[in-house]
Amino acid sequence: MVFYLKYRPKKFSELDCVSAREKLENALKGNIPDKIPHAFLFTGGRGLGKTSTARLIAKAINCTNRRGRDIEPCNKCFPCLSIGNGTNLDVIEIDAASNRGIDEIRDLREKIRLSPVQSKKKIYIIDEVHMLTTEAFNALLKTLEEPPSHAYFILCTTESQKVPETIKSRCFHLSFSKATNEELVSSFQQIVKGEKIKADKEALIQIAKLSDGSFRDGAKILEELSTSSSISLITVEKRYKTKTLNLATEELVSALSEKDVNAAIETVNDLSNAGIDFKLFTQNLIEELHQRLINEARQGLGKTNETRDLILLLSKSHMEVKYSVIPQLPLELAIVEWCFSENSENSENSENRSISDSDNQTNISQNPSLSLKNPSVGENKDDKILEELIEKIKKENVTVAGLLRGCKIEKFDKNKLTLSTGYKFHKDRLSSENAQALIERFASEITGEKIKVEIKLKN
Ligand SMILES: [Zn+2]
Repeated sequence: MVFYLKYRPKKFSELDCVSAREKLENALKGNIPDKIPHAFLFTGGRGLGKTSTARLIAKAINCTNRRGRDIEPCNKCFPCLSIGNGTNLDVIEIDAASNRGIDEIRDLREKIRLSPVQSKKKIYIIDEVHMLTTEAFNALLKTLEEPPSHAYFILCTTESQKVPETIKSRCFHLSFSKATNEELVSSFQQIVKGEKIKADKEALIQIAKLSDGSFRDGAKILEELSTSSSISLITVEKRYKTKTLNLATEELVSALSEKDVNAAIETVNDLSNAGIDFKLFTQNLIEELHQRLINEARQGLGKTNETRDLILLLSKSHMEVKYSVIPQLPLELAIVEWCFSENSENSENSENRSISDSDNQTNISQNPSLSLKNPSVGENKDDKILEELIEKIKKENVTVAGLLRGCKIEKFDKNKLTLSTGYKFHKDRLSSENAQALIERFASEITGEKIKVEIKLKN
């Protein structure tokens, strides 16, 4: 049996998503079966355990050994076992995305009144419920409005915004969030133990990073790698990274030689999403540039100085990765510094140290015309405030200061400072509780007023 199915949670206490688990435990405690909601709506990305949780509820409702306030199914009685292997006639799983979906909903309406055959209650699990047609939704709504006492519904969807409000309002809503890497690693450890696989913890952490919060994806990777006698970090890297790394190195080298900051940052962003180790990647990048440096020197090309400067800049970022809260930040800062390097010399003497007159008019640069939202505050004053803010914050947090360099003051009212950035991931980082508190503290210090800070994304 595939790992994902074999190791799907068999008890509520084994559910990965803590918030969903707690909410569910509260709703079920002491209420099964008569006082629990007749309809549930599970939302969240794929592979986060919605269907497994739905089956757990079905088991808890029909388990013949469950007693009193305890919500856990026994996993031994006939209903538990048959629900577990998908053969229970009273637990009907419908895939709304399949062609049969519509027929099955029609069938549901006809048969819903019939009593369960094998168990106490009937449970309908409708997966990808947002795929239902309007007609099918209407039919479902009628059933949800007056469900027979023996019927329960668990609707699952990856796209909750496509589910009509009329349906939502009749459901107990539970949203599933991505599992953290720690949660994933602990799930993988169960598999490793159960399958007697030899695997290093670092390898499991790397697999967790690659799975993007999805236990299903992670279990799949683990299963693919389980053919090796033992799984090490190198096994994982080799199988999943080499290709990505080489391609990204090529892309980044080309973007850097063009000084195309957008393309370069985008490559870094893709790598971050792919869970790439930035220390390893920067190393790869430096090795590639080193090769170029040697070739250029051999051919007597005048570009050696440039390549050398870039290597020095990247070497610095390579050393900083280890101490950086955000793994890709040192590389991003090196990219920004490199792509705007020529310009910084020209504007060194200018009071306005923004990069607005750069040739590289990208979305990271400042556009003065946009900063004059408040007539009482001139752009130069804005720039000075931002500069002062950065200087102060730099002493406490280099990362936040670095990110602020890519920002501009969009608006500065009496008590509110609106900053804008062209990059979503910069916005996310600056909007974190800590960063926000830091910026607010210093902004208040500079102005002598209590300042609220908002970070906006500018296209
Ligand atoms: Zn049972």
